[in-house]
Amino acid sequence: MGDTLFGKIIRREIPADIVYEDADVLAFRDIAPQAPVHVLFIPKKPIATLNDVPDTDAALIGKLVMAAVCWAKSQGFADTGYRLVTNCNQDGGQTVFHIHLHLLAGRQMHWPPG
Ligand code: 5GP
Repeated sequence: MGDTLFGKIIRREIPADIVYEDADVLAFRDIAPQAPVHVLFIPKKPIATLNDVPDTDAALIGKLVMAAVCWAKSQGFADTGYRLVTNCNQDGGQTVFHIHLHLLAGRQMHWPPG
């Protein structure tokens, strides 16, 4: 797949407000936050969309989710709540083709989403 701006953030070629990092996962604040807390959790391995995740990377997706959950707990808003969202392709509203979880918190979320 082609490089994306998230690849540049992983390589520290462009700045980001990084809040969490481990061997497989990086998390940083969204540049256009949609809630008081809006953090993107990405695998360091570039995978374009959810449709492109191979069976062999199922554990990586688990790590991504657990990293977001652990960070939510560490920040103290896990019990009041939050939303994890992944957009896939055009109808899903995906604009950056390196998979990511949006972690949104700090306000009441609504349903259905726009
Ligand atoms: P998507 O639309 O693909 O689900 O989410 C991409 C997200 O990346 C958007 O929420 C957008 O605001 C965020 N984003 C786009 N460019 C940058 C950037 O340069 N830095 C950061 N931190 N976030 C970005």
